[in-house]
Amino acid sequence: MTVWDPIADIAAKVRQGELKAVDLVEKSLASITKAEEYKAIIATTAERARKRAQQVDAGDNQGRLAGVPFIAKDNFLVFGAETTAASNILKGFDAPYQSTVINRLEAEGAICVAKANLDAFAHGASTENSDFFTTLNSHDKTRVPGGSSGGSATSVALELAPFALGTDTGGSTRQPASFTGVVGYKPTYGLMSRSGIVAMGSSLDTVGTFARTVEDAELVIDVMAGTDELDSTTIERDPAGYITDPTDLKGKRIGLIREYMGEGLADNVREQIEQAVAKLREAGAEIIDVSLPSLPLALAVYYILCPAEVSSNLSRYDGQRYGFSCSDAKDLSESYTRTREIGFGKEAKRRIMIGTYVLSSGYYDAYYKKAQTVRTKLINEAAEAFKQVDFLVGPVTPTVAFKIGENASNPLAMYLADVMTVAVNLIGVPGISIPCGVSGGLPVGLQLIAPQRADRELLAIAVAAERVLT
Ligand code: GLN
Repeated sequence: MTVWDPIADIAAKVRQGELKAVDLVEKSLASITKAEEYKAIIATTAERARKRAQQVDAGDNQGRLAGVPFIAKDNFLVFGAETTAASNILKGFDAPYQSTVINRLEAEGAICVAKANLDAFAHGASTENSDFFTTLNSHDKTRVPGGSSGGSATSVALELAPFALGTDTGGSTRQPASFTGVVGYKPTYGLMSRSGIVAMGSSLDTVGTFARTVEDAELVIDVMAGTDELDSTTIERDPAGYITDPTDLKGKRIGLIREYMGEGLADNVREQIEQAVAKLREAGAEIIDVSLPSLPLALAVYYILCPAEVSSNLSRYDGQRYGFSCSDAKDLSESYTRTREIGFGKEAKRRIMIGTYVLSSGYYDAYYKKAQTVRTKLINEAAEAFKQVDFLVGPVTPTVAFKIGENASNPLAMYLADVMTVAVNLIGVPGISIPCGVSGGLPVGLQLIAPQRADRELLAIAVAAERVLT
C-alpha cells in the first residue's frame, strides 16, 4: 500500500488547500512512533515541525515542496534536535546553523520531522557502527538495512516520510537503497553543498537522496542542487534542471561493468542483475561489455584516502567546541585525550589510526601518494569508458542485505560491502540505485552511473529503466 502520494501531488494539494501541512506532519510523526521497533530514528524534530507546518498552512513557503515531511540523516545540521552523527562525542550538540540543502528544502515548504540513524560519522555499511543502536531492515528484522544511511533508507522503505536525505562518501546512499528496496541517488561531486553536513572524507562527500521513485527524487534534487558560497567545491546546476523529460532506452549505449560481474558477486544478485540488464536490452538499450582495469584497486584506494581525510576531519572533536567534553580531566591535554578516548567509537578510532598512519612521514609516499595516483588512473579509465558508452551499469552490492552481526566483528568483511560503490565517489561521477528485483524476500538494486555533471541524463535514463524494471 502506498501511504504517500507522489511528492509533487502532495505539495500541489497543500498549495490548493486540499491537504494541510499540520496533518501531513502528524501523519509522519504517528508512523514514526508506530515503527519504533525498526530503530530508524534517533530523534524527532516534532515541536519545530509542527510550528513550521502551521506557518505553511498560513501561507508561508508554499513552494514546490509545500508541507512535504522529510527525514534527515543525523549528520545534517538541522534545528529542532541535536545533531549527533550517531556518535557519543557529539551528544548534546545543537546546530548553530542549518545545512544549506536543508535551508533550500525549507524555503520550498518541506518540513523536517526527524533525524535518522547512521553508522557513527557515516563510517560503515550496516548502521551497526552507530554508537546508539542498530536499525533493522524492514524486509527482515534479523538483517541490516545497509549503511551508513541505514536509518534514512529504512524511513523511506517504511514510508515514514515521502523522502529522506543521506550522504554518500563511498556508497552510503546507494548501498542502503539497494538493501531496502528504494531509490538512492548520489550526485556528481559538488552538485550539492556540503555546508552544514558533518564532514567525513571531504573530497568524496556528497548529499544522497532517498525516495520511492526516481520522479520523486528528481524534484528534491532539483530543489537542492547548485552553487553555494559556503562550499567552494559546488558546481553550477544544469540550466535545464533535474526534472527530466520522458525518454526511452532506445539506442542508449550502456556499458556493463565487467569487473563487477566477476568473482565475489553472489549468485542470487548476479541473477537479478542479468535479468534487469536483459530487460534494458529488450527495451532498446545497446548493452556493451566494458572494462575499467583499475577497478579492483578502488576499494584499497578508498580505504587509504578516506581514512586520511577522516583523521583530519575528526581532529576538530577535541571536547572544547562540540558536544561531549570529559569533565574530570586535570588539564587541557588530558581533556583532549580523554574526550576522544571516551567519545569516539571503535570504527572512528580505527579510521583515525589508519588515516594518521598513511599520512605520516615515511608512509605518505607509499600509501597516500600512490593511492592518489591510482585515483587519477581510475578517473582517466572512466573518461575512456564514457567515450564508448553513455552510461555504466552493474550491481550496487555483492550480496543482498546481510544478517545483523554477520560482519560486525570483521572490519575487512564489512569494507567489502563497498566494493562496487566506492569507485563512483573516487571518480566524482553520479550514481543511482534503483530497485530491480527481489531474491528470497530481499531487495536487489541496479546501479546506473553517468559521466560527471550528467546528472540530468542519469535521472532521465533511470526513470526509463525504472519503468521497465518494476
Ligand atoms: N561504507 C563506506 C565506509 O564505511 C561508505 C560510507 C559512506 O558513504 N558514508 O566508508
